Amino acid sequence: MTDKETSANRVLIAEDDPVSRRMLEAFLEKWGYQVVTATDGLDAVRILESKDAPALAVLDWMMPGLEGPEVCRRVRAHPDRPYVYILLLTARSQRDDLLRGLESGADDYLTKPFDASELRARLRVGQRILDLQNGLIAAREESSFRATHDELTGLANRRVVLDEIAREHSRHLRQGGSFAIILVDLDHFKSVNDTRGHPTGDAVLKEVSRRMARSVRPYDTVGRYGGEEFIVVAPSCGRSGAIALAERILNSLRSAPVETDRGPLSVTVSCGIAISTAAKPLDPRELIHLADEALYRAKERGRDRSELATETELTSSS
Ligand SMILES: [Mg+2]
Repeated sequence: MTDKETSANRVLIAEDDPVSRRMLEAFLEKWGYQVVTATDGLDAVRILESKDAPALAVLDWMMPGLEGPEVCRRVRAHPDRPYVYILLLTARSQRDDLLRGLESGADDYLTKPFDASELRARLRVGQRILDLQNGLIAAREESSFRATHDELTGLANRRVVLDEIAREHSRHLRQGGSFAIILVDLDHFKSVNDTRGHPTGDAVLKEVSRRMARSVRPYDTVGRYGGEEFIVVAPSCGRSGAIALAERILNSLRSAPVETDRGPLSVTVSCGIAISTAAKPLDPRELIHLADEALYRAKERGRDRSELATETELTSSS
């Protein structure tokens, strides 16, 4: 057994017979499991449907309230919940009954009176299956995270942020209102890489990403657009909101230097803002183009500032 407490280390014992229940409890605790007990089927369902339910369950077949197979059926009726490995305990040995138990969704069964070492071995099989399954789930989640996020910064990647702009564009064509994008570019980043090395450059990119993500509203998307360039997609955001948002990003960097292993480093960014309004909807390509022009102006006018796209300025209403 590992010292680490995992859900597979916790086992539910549902058994109405007190002597049998205590015996099971004593064995399982001796083997290092954390035991939760239920004295009838309804109690067992309640525990298995609760948050942080044990992932392993030993269910007696004959119990008041609900019988073991019915408990299995109820638990299996929620395929979206974390899997529970279920071992049925039964005094019955007729083949038909066992088939009925397995058909109800039990993973395994043991006939009473059971042999302790056999029970232990079968619980380990259950744990192994749960571990395998958790490994597969983690791998699937990681690969979907990798497909949608930038590896270095953990922000949305370029494809996701462009999809988000396209989605926001079509939503706002239908519903009106306005939305903004902000192109954010690190100032003089090349010299950070050149004079302090790429590992420091990467540390700066990560910290800038973290501060930007904290500066935006919960429903905004921050993505890495390329090298040291980022895009913020801000739904339902007009002119003053977008300027304030860019200002929060600028301030998040002005407030304190970035700590690197080469010492603190003052980092600033420049922001180019473009807004699509109901009066003048802009398609994603136009928006990015205008934001890019505004960003260029922010650089020209001394960096560490934001500029609003001129075309947006003339037409935006809020
Ligand atoms: Mg019983």
